[in-house]
Amino acid sequence: MAEKAGLKNRGYSREDVEDRREAAEKFTGVSLDTVSRYAIDPEGASKNIENMIGTVQIPLGYAGPVRIKGSYADGEYLVPLATTEGALVASISRGMSVINAGGGARTAVYGDYMTRAPVLRVEGIEHSEKVCQWIDSHPDEIQAAVASTTSHGKLHRIDKYPNGRSLHLRFLFETGDAMGMNMATIASEAVCRLLEKETGAVMVSVSGNMCSDKKPAAMNMINGRGKTAVAEARIPKDIVEGKLHATASAIVETNYRKNLVGSSMAGTLGANAHAANMVAAVFIATGQDPAQVVGGSMAMTTCEDLDGDLYICVRMPTVEVGTVGGGTRLPCQREALAMIDCLGEGKARKLAEIVCATVLAGELSTLAAQAAGQLGSAHAALGRRYYPYIRGRESPTACLS
Ligand code: NAP
Repeated sequence: MAEKAGLKNRGYSREDVEDRREAAEKFTGVSLDTVSRYAIDPEGASKNIENMIGTVQIPLGYAGPVRIKGSYADGEYLVPLATTEGALVASISRGMSVINAGGGARTAVYGDYMTRAPVLRVEGIEHSEKVCQWIDSHPDEIQAAVASTTSHGKLHRIDKYPNGRSLHLRFLFETGDAMGMNMATIASEAVCRLLEKETGAVMVSVSGNMCSDKKPAAMNMINGRGKTAVAEARIPKDIVEGKLHATASAIVETNYRKNLVGSSMAGTLGANAHAANMVAAVFIATGQDPAQVVGGSMAMTTCEDLDGDLYICVRMPTVEVGTVGGGTRLPCQREALAMIDCLGEGKARKLAEIVCATVLAGELSTLAAQAAGQLGSAHAALGRRYYPYIRGRESPTACLS
């Protein structure tokens, strides 16, 4: 039936997209008029989507500018955010204005390896050991297999996790400015074909789930995946009290009981208020893989009261971002990347730092709103058309200003 309706058309011209959409309209009985109005060239999206019938639009806003002094980011950045959650952009902006008032955020990137972890079938422990020995004694052949697939990707090391008749290998790659998941997958597969030929092991899957891609994993939280980024800020006492309507000690207590104790009781990976919100909004705006928000969600937020000043830090072990390849090829996403000077070569770690500073701002604002008892009212005011009267508040949006 799908074939009859013309759904098998594989082309990427505007006409192909139109034919396919009309077929989908006929098949589903739904008008796709809004989906049909888009600005991008479908040919340019041919590496990003199959069966294209149009686009979905997500509102794009900005937060900031935020001042960042980092190892890679250095300046003031107006951060593009794509979201449908009312109050999110206002809240991040509030966090950024407080961070700026305290002198800005400091950021750093500590690790930068994309991983792919194939699983091989072996005969047992003895065979597994022989495969591992072959890997250790043939680095040049392995590097040559990698180099046959990519010029920017470099194999850093292979970690080995034997388990009886399964041998899990975790490959760590430097991937230049690409997020690197295709690159790492293609290169890992080439190495596995070599291992099959030389050792008789059989690659069962190029992804044996110890990578771990798009799944929350302690492995990534501890060892990192993509970029490991950290952002911190110290907010002077008068700004905490004047702008956030809270005290450092109240925010520290909220962070302790909520992000540390509550997260630990719930068994979450990471300990934060809503890191995924900021990660998702930046990822969608800048053409990152939205499924990798999972990695970004495993952030840890810590706070300290330094004589009335608030110290806040966000550690993100798994920031999987790139400034070339993937969705960064698309025109709206390129413009968004250009807004923060993160388009193209030499910018991927800078982007990771900006993501981390944006998470810091969102964490700060939300923790402060909860410490001051304002979270519900802000969402009621900004995320809904109607909001109830809120006792004891002069303006429903005051907590976001
Ligand atoms: P990619 O677009 O597949 O590859 C990056 C390309 O950019 C390579 O051809 C690379 O060339 C080239 N390149 C040019 N300049 C570069 C530079 N300065 N640094 C690095 N590379 C440069 O992107 P990817 O990052 O590897 O993969 C991202 C895509 O993978 C996303 O679309 C994501 O959704 C998808 N993904 C795939 C899997 C999977 O299992 N395959 C899993 C998750 C996500 P050379 O390699 O020739 O050097």
